[in-house]
Amino acid sequence: MKVLKFGGTSVGSTENINKVIAILDSISEESKCIVVVSAVGGITDKLMDAANNAVEKKSSYKDGFENIKKQHSVIIEELIDNNLKKNQVLEVVNEKLDELEQLLNGLYLINELSPKTTDKLLSFGEQLSSFIISETMNYRGLDVSLKNAQELIITDNNYTNASVNFEQTEENINAFFEKNTSAITILPGFISKSIDGELTTLGRGGSDYTAAIIAASLNVEELQIWTDVSGMYTTNPKLVKQAKPIDKLSYQEAVELSHFGAKVLYPPTVQPVLDKNIPIVIKNTMAPKDSGTYISKDYSNGTNLAVKGISNIDNIALLTLQGNGMVGIPGFSKRLFETLSNEKINVILITQASSEHSICIAISDKDANIAKKAIDKTLENEISLHKIDPIIIEKDLAIIAIVGDNMKNHQGISGKMFSVLGKNNVNIRAIAQGASERNISAVISKNDVKKALNTIHERFFEERTKQLNLFITGIGNVGEKLIDQIQQQQSFLKKNLKIDLRIVGMSNSRKMIFNSKGISLNNWIAEFNYAESSSIKGFYKKAVNLNLRNSIFVDVTASENVSNIYADYLKQNIAVVACNKIACSSNYDNYKNLQNLSLKYNAPFLYETNVGAGLPIINTLNNLVASGDKVTSILAVLSGSLNFVFNNFSDRKNFHDTVKQAQFEGYTEPDPRIDLSGIDVARKILILARENGMKMEIEDVENETFLTKSNLDANSVDDFYDSLIKEEAHFQKLYASAKANNCQLKYVAEYKNGKAKVGLREIPKDHPFYNLKGKDNIVMFYTERYPEQPLIVKGAGAGADVTASGLFADIIKLARN
Ligand code: ADP
Ligand code: ASP
Ligand code: MG
Repeated sequence: MKVLKFGGTSVGSTENINKVIAILDSISEESKCIVVVSAVGGITDKLMDAANNAVEKKSSYKDGFENIKKQHSVIIEELIDNNLKKNQVLEVVNEKLDELEQLLNGLYLINELSPKTTDKLLSFGEQLSSFIISETMNYRGLDVSLKNAQELIITDNNYTNASVNFEQTEENINAFFEKNTSAITILPGFISKSIDGELTTLGRGGSDYTAAIIAASLNVEELQIWTDVSGMYTTNPKLVKQAKPIDKLSYQEAVELSHFGAKVLYPPTVQPVLDKNIPIVIKNTMAPKDSGTYISKDYSNGTNLAVKGISNIDNIALLTLQGNGMVGIPGFSKRLFETLSNEKINVILITQASSEHSICIAISDKDANIAKKAIDKTLENEISLHKIDPIIIEKDLAIIAIVGDNMKNHQGISGKMFSVLGKNNVNIRAIAQGASERNISAVISKNDVKKALNTIHERFFEERTKQLNLFITGIGNVGEKLIDQIQQQQSFLKKNLKIDLRIVGMSNSRKMIFNSKGISLNNWIAEFNYAESSSIKGFYKKAVNLNLRNSIFVDVTASENVSNIYADYLKQNIAVVACNKIACSSNYDNYKNLQNLSLKYNAPFLYETNVGAGLPIINTLNNLVASGDKVTSILAVLSGSLNFVFNNFSDRKNFHDTVKQAQFEGYTEPDPRIDLSGIDVARKILILARENGMKMEIEDVENETFLTKSNLDANSVDDFYDSLIKEEAHFQKLYASAKANNCQLKYVAEYKNGKAKVGLREIPKDHPFYNLKGKDNIVMFYTERYPEQPLIVKGAGAGADVTASGLFADIIKLARN
């Protein structure tokens, strides 16, 4: 004999009820089935809403009622194709519904809803569903009977959450089933009767419990809970896409997970079957072939994972009681808990510091105000004597918990849990770990639940796959290249490096798009055309609100305004990767502040592409400094654009056209004056000096320009180009001098003895800079370890492709962080 329980979604539509019937048809061939059913999906909530509206004198309760009526009649219409039978069923159902309508009308008149009436009202859901299903099966020729569970399950009169009188209940159940011969017996879940004959219920979600009580009373071979997911999952599958069904769980693990929010199993369900050692199997009505989750005494034959699941309870309030008057006074906690118990308030989690100076209690949000009032009253005396502060309530919190019998045998589990939460800026308000070490719980903000579950899930269950969520701003040459490279590499990264790299937000100065599941990179351009209008602040706010783990803001602009928002991102624990060099070359305090924020908020700030595009220049310098080497001087050609210009300019090609070409090929900044004035190179050597530990400002970099006054005075890019034509003779002179000296013109940056300077130099034949081709960069680090032969980094130092790949490298570096 088996007991099967079908939940609200399993009996929520005609299609699903047909699936239930098919399942029962096949199982009942082998063994007798006792079937407990919930109300049709959503009906219990709708009954409650209608009642609340009626009590609050809102006439919308009538619409609520009509909706409930409609939902049932549609199901009957669709399930039973014979008019005669259909009408018979409808007649009984309508009679019940009339009763319900009268009850609601009554509530509207008296505007009061007692727990006792609540039970009466909610019981309609299960009564209707069990009747409709048994009649349908009967009509379809199955050997089925209906039994009212109220006649079997006896409780106290604690309405809405009654306690079962097991002795009497067991007796009733055994007596009934001894005589019952039907192959399938259907019973409504959730409802019961008090010793004095009043209708009671077993608490929301209580149909699972009904089934467990019957299973235990009859000592059946198995209890099956049929629902809309394929078992108890590693975490709530509605919040974490990667959650997977757990094959096997011990009873205790199942209790912990369900107690801490895994709604798929009502927590009291386990106890009755545990006592009789009856396994529980959680199965999916929509996918009956899936094996589901097997819950039994034994866990060791399951997986040896330490953490089996992660669960969450939302709508938590934290009560904090503190004060010196608590220290060392016996009986204090007793008074506190007695007060809560008198108010029937369930305590979900407790923590007390060993100093006894404060105690934190997590309870349901809805109980918070009553709890405060009651506790403040109980401790009135101590509060007035200032031994204790009035109780503090914080709302909008949640509890997350990791669960596993085997956790106690593994070190560092809580360390892993809290370090990933910390890395993702999830603030922890309180922590509790049971002495059994089967459960580690943390109280966090409600807004962080999804991120926290996903982060912890990734850490413990996803073969170390790390998801990175990018918010890219600036979709010009470099931005587009970066997006292309990401698209090309996405599947490689996932497969080989276990990095799930997704672009979640994209913006330029006009538009922005978002997709929390990752923007499809096949057709983002089309999507972008219809995007909402963007702002720097708007993009930031959206990134913060999405609250995704491992979020990274990528700045591919050259905008000062964009660079001004880095601090805000870092404070939100969002990493910043930038090729925009304004932030690092702005005033020193700002640069330093960003470094400090990065450390404080554990949000990396990476800008390798600020110097030498994709070349590992900053990284090399950082490694030298970190390993204790002293960088004494740096000599470098750091402008791919200027190198390109001076490599192409000659007495046969004028200066203006050469600069134009450089811009056309994407080697200059949008405003070429930034390159030609030397300011771009000055910024780069400034950044290197700062990375080397120097407190330096841009004004400290000596910049000897090779431009003329009229070049420098130009008011616009066009004027500047015009001035280049006018000053061609000046540039030809520079060229001629270098040629006469057998030298090449190179724009050189130098850092030495704590000073930095940039300027055009004539480089002789034997110098390593002489043969520097095209848009290449070269950096020579002279250090204590490399005193004569410098450490040289050389290669393409400008261009969209290499800059994008430098950004990409910084992003990947974060995955390893
Ligand atoms: P039923 O109507 O069948 O009783 P419930 O809604 O009570 O179904 O429980 C099933 C739901 O529990 C799932 O749809 C899922 O959203 C939720 N749930 C939360 N945590 C978990 C978990 N760890 N494993 C499975 N389901 C979970
Ligand atoms: N119908 C009840 C509820 O929604 C009981 C159950 O479904 O388990 O809470
Ligand atoms: Mg349920």
